[in-house]
Amino acid sequence: MLKIENVSKKYGTTQALKSITLTIPEGVCYGLIGPNGSGKSTLMKIISHIIKSYEGRVEHVGESKSALGYIPQDISLEEKLTAKVNMEFFGQIYGLKGKTLEERVEKTLKDVGLWERANDIVESFSGGMKRRLNIGCALMHAPKLILLDEPTVGVDPQSRRYIFDIINKLKEEGRTIIYVSHYMEEIESLCDYVAFIDKGNIVEEGKIDELLNRYAETSVFFESMIPNKTLTSLGYDFVTHQGGVLIKTTKPLDTLEDLAKLSKKESLVPQQLSLYRPRLEDVFFQLTGTDLRDQLQ
Ligand code: ADP
Ligand code: MG
Repeated sequence: MLKIENVSKKYGTTQALKSITLTIPEGVCYGLIGPNGSGKSTLMKIISHIIKSYEGRVEHVGESKSALGYIPQDISLEEKLTAKVNMEFFGQIYGLKGKTLEERVEKTLKDVGLWERANDIVESFSGGMKRRLNIGCALMHAPKLILLDEPTVGVDPQSRRYIFDIINKLKEEGRTIIYVSHYMEEIESLCDYVAFIDKGNIVEEGKIDELLNRYAETSVFFESMIPNKTLTSLGYDFVTHQGGVLIKTTKPLDTLEDLAKLSKKESLVPQQLSLYRPRLEDVFFQLTGTDLRDQLQ
């Protein structure tokens, strides 16, 4: 378990983190999401003991510092050396040597899908391959807690797939993962928990399922030629959404049925009539009144 208590960080006059408090249970995949400059990387560096001067407390309950693997946002590898030598270097830092070291290097290179390229110099690798190697390096000592800072930014789809496979495998092994991203879909599909961070504050956090239930209601998506003013006159409460309307309802099945009847009566087959399951995106919108995607442009 990891306990973060009232952690604040200033760089000169920039307040990067404002009294962050979070508990990260053991064995979960914990997502950290927020716009650029919101303090995500700073928090990861504090947890990883890279930044040592800050206010507040970080407690790794029942774990030693060496049981931690940190994959920085900016790739750090020796470009002129081979993949294998880079990994050996990291392994040695963690105290591995001899046959144990060689075995770990082979296993880890296989895990990240780079065994065939073991003796090639890093300089010849694509961005995605470098990223995978960087992840492998941080996993050499089989850490219990793994921190990944935006590991899929700028990588090709194949490497992205690999990275997801690696993370899913780490999850199966019961490791604790902190996954930083600004891709809502990634967090939603990989993580059990999420914390939304904005301007150095945790806006909300918790189990993803629970947040979805709490903040975003199930509604009905309706796209048809029936004018919005007809829907208004029938008392529907809706917002426009992707070419149609999202209708708020406490009885979605009844609403689906009513809209089907209305369409029949008007002899208009709707383009779409479906249940709308809330997404993490909707929760973020509810909390901040903004779309994360817009903030990133
Ligand atoms: P994120 O990872 O969410 O993009 P960061 O933690 O990198 O956010 O940055 C948070 C804030 O702190 C930003 O305003 C950033 O400009 C500032 N910052 C980050 N690192 C430094 C640094 N080494 N020196 C000065 N300011 C920094
Ligand atoms: Mg960052």
